[in-house]
Amino acid sequence: MIYLDYQATTALAPEVADAMAATMDHYGNPNSAHRPGRIAAADVEVARGRVLDALGRSEGRLIFTSGATEALNIAITGGARAAPAGRRRVVTLATEHAAVLDTVLALRHEGFEPVILPVDADGLVDLAIAEAAIDERAALLAVMQVNNEIGVIQPLDRLFAIARAAGVLTLCDAVQGFGRLATPQADMIAISAHKIHGPKGVGALWLRGGIDPQPLLHGGGQEQGLRPGTLSPMLCAGFGVAAQLAAGQRHADLAHVGALWEQASRLFADWRINGSREERYHGNLNISRPGLDAARLISDVRTVAVSLGSACASGSGRPSHVLKAIGLSDGEARGSVRIGFGRYTTADELEEAATLLNKAATAQGMPA
Ligand code: PLP
Repeated sequence: MIYLDYQATTALAPEVADAMAATMDHYGNPNSAHRPGRIAAADVEVARGRVLDALGRSEGRLIFTSGATEALNIAITGGARAAPAGRRRVVTLATEHAAVLDTVLALRHEGFEPVILPVDADGLVDLAIAEAAIDERAALLAVMQVNNEIGVIQPLDRLFAIARAAGVLTLCDAVQGFGRLATPQADMIAISAHKIHGPKGVGALWLRGGIDPQPLLHGGGQEQGLRPGTLSPMLCAGFGVAAQLAAGQRHADLAHVGALWEQASRLFADWRINGSREERYHGNLNISRPGLDAARLISDVRTVAVSLGSACASGSGRPSHVLKAIGLSDGEARGSVRIGFGRYTTADELEEAATLLNKAATAQGMPA
């Protein structure tokens, strides 16, 4: 199997698997005061330090969660609930992940006003439109760093500067950018281990000092009362090593991805690229061909793992909300494939995958 679905998830790095195996028998509860508990707590705290280092943050606090979805829910719902009474708007973009969009929309039931900003054909937000929406009526602005479907990078510095000037809390869904790009200047940052060759089931929310969202869960007061429940030292340890590796190998990983992007651009030269060519992360190539049935393509080419877009939406049969937001018709969206590559992808794999995908796509256009 040639795995080209790096935006959905990534394979566990061998170093991460070793680190997890080494903590597997650390059975203590990290909140217990005895020796097994202290050993487990040490695993968690070493991991916390490693993730903070990879984020490049020495201040603020890092709360471990079950993944980015939970971190985003705490940040959005907890952040909005903690906002001053006059700030009822929650602003985000049409191309955000469902974990952000659906959480923002759910706040409507609590009297908040979701404001979903459009993007242009490149997938980029218009700063003038953003500026008009982000003012003293807003509680929160949530924007992702790298789009998981089309790889587009928003002008985060400028968006967050607009929000700061209006006293609006900022949240970055940095799931696809963490360990790859510079950390954004947001008040809250959500990340996930499994997108950087760490384990599934663990993520984190970084909070700038003084930022205090309301907890969504109530329980034993773990993670400074923000995320109660017993942590898994093994998952945290895996996340810590994955973050350390990503930060240490960042330049090598980026160079590798850059070379694969050049190669992929040549191999799929007669496909159309969805999203900005310039403002993007190069490990994501979302492409389409007129008249293509991408779902059929994916099932025809069984030895290559690519996807239609977000893994969460893949099973729904609905065209991607991201592709619709950049102006693709339903047909164009259904003719789009997301190819994602990274640290462990080889040039030979990409070449072979392109041969198979191009052949199957061309065959669709031929009379039976
Ligand atoms: N945000 C983005 C951009 C993602 O790609 C994902 C992963 O699917 C998530 C949020 C959710 O992350 P998790 O799987 O850790 O809940």
